Amino acid sequence: MSYLVLARKYRPKRFSELVGQPHVARTLLNGLRQGRVAHAYLFSGPRGVGKTTTARLLARAINCLHPLDGEPCGKCPPCTSIGEGRALDVIEIDAASNTGVDDIRQLREGINYVPVECRAKVYIIDEVHMLSINAFNALLKTLEEPPEHAYFYLATTAPQKVPATILSRCQRFDFRRVSTAEIRAHLEFICKSEQLPFDQEALEIVARRADGSVRDSLSIADQVIAFAGGRLLKQDAIEAVGEVRLDLYFKALDLVESRDLAQAFALDEELSSSGADPQDFLVGLQNHLIQVLHTKTLGAGKMDVPQDSRSEFTQFAARLTEADLIRLLQYCAAAEVDMRRNFNPRIRLQLLLLKFASFDQSVVLGDLIRRLESKTISSEPPTASAKPQKSSTSSLPGSRKSQNVEPLPATAPATAPSASSPNTASDAELLSRVQSAWSEICAAVSKEHNSRARMLQLGGYPTAFRNRVLTVNFAKSFDLDAVRGCIPSLQKELVPLVGEVQVGLALGPIPQSSSDEESENDPVLNLLKERLDAKPIN
Ligand SMILES: [Zn+2]
Repeated sequence: MSYLVLARKYRPKRFSELVGQPHVARTLLNGLRQGRVAHAYLFSGPRGVGKTTTARLLARAINCLHPLDGEPCGKCPPCTSIGEGRALDVIEIDAASNTGVDDIRQLREGINYVPVECRAKVYIIDEVHMLSINAFNALLKTLEEPPEHAYFYLATTAPQKVPATILSRCQRFDFRRVSTAEIRAHLEFICKSEQLPFDQEALEIVARRADGSVRDSLSIADQVIAFAGGRLLKQDAIEAVGEVRLDLYFKALDLVESRDLAQAFALDEELSSSGADPQDFLVGLQNHLIQVLHTKTLGAGKMDVPQDSRSEFTQFAARLTEADLIRLLQYCAAAEVDMRRNFNPRIRLQLLLLKFASFDQSVVLGDLIRRLESKTISSEPPTASAKPQKSSTSSLPGSRKSQNVEPLPATAPATAPSASSPNTASDAELLSRVQSAWSEICAAVSKEHNSRARMLQLGGYPTAFRNRVLTVNFAKSFDLDAVRGCIPSLQKELVPLVGEVQVGLALGPIPQSSSDEESENDPVLNLLKERLDAKPIN
């Protein structure tokens, strides 16, 4: 007996069988019932959530001879031939396998011939964003004036890469990631239909591992069933695919409270030795944070989390504020962007964990660095609030010598730099004020010198404040004369913030992305940059 993999056997045959995309199914069915089907659709969304399946269903539905309330009958000749993938009039193009120029050329040559056996000719283009520019242009010409019998169903995981000219000619549907609960229910339905022994824990493991993709869940289930010889039980699932280690995500959240950098390195080591992929872990961590946030707002009862870890979710939800969770999610999002930009994923994950471990203390740590900068650290005992970070900071090599000690004025509290007046604040503090208000200052200057102020903002970065002189650095290739004209108004704008000051322009090192406030204010990145002379790769 030949074995049909679950994904093929349980491929939806009607819209009502689509898992997790009720909004798409409903809108398409309504259109079909009213005979209003567009000539071009774009289906976007993560992989394995039913985009191509929907395109094939739609191809069947518009060609079906006896549709039932919009759904394909599944029995007539067009339904069966399309279902078996042998219909001549349904042409599937995989743009990922080549740039598609030849395919699109063939498409343009063949499109005007009437369909052979069906009512409509359907072109399904998978991963359409991978088409080359030439192929897109060719496709565009066809989309502009399609023959009455031609339909285009485009699917993509990266809609942002599809040219706007194509997008504007398509009706777009965004497919969503399918929830673990929906996948679990679908797996349960399949196990029952297949009369396979199963338990809920195994379904949970498989559903979580699939991370929102129905197709992945079915191939993982296939893998476990083959491994276990025809059943889907917890122990089999763990042995076949490994457990989703929720404890590692909780450990990452623990860092926020423990503020222990050593623990962050230990977790990184554990992740690395367990063979976890940094990118996978990051995606999982974001889902985890969102679940904690959900638990906080909805309560664990309504959550898509495993029964036995609900109490842990509830505990973390109680310990962290919503604002904290959102900030942590923003850190993760920034890390994800860096990873996509080819920043070494392992190092980026390490940095993220260090950020978690220095969370909430960013002000204190940032301040410590500023005080190191003004060489006061040795002359002043650390404040109580600075203690937890002291060991990790001072253990970093390369601490600068404490010469020319200029102690912080006693009136300037370490945790509230903005509270002191321009006259009592230290140079480092004044510099930091200018840095954090730099875009606002430049915006004010732009009232008088529009384009110069823009250059000032984009190219310049305040790097030093000494003896009432603010130094603004520019990249070595910059023409300083271009911005010299706006120095007087710049000096004027600085008065309310730091008092009377002279502005000096200089060519010299500037931070990699001075416009990127997130990384600029990031104490860990700054610490690495300053103490270890580290430079971001990107
Ligand atoms: Zn039919």
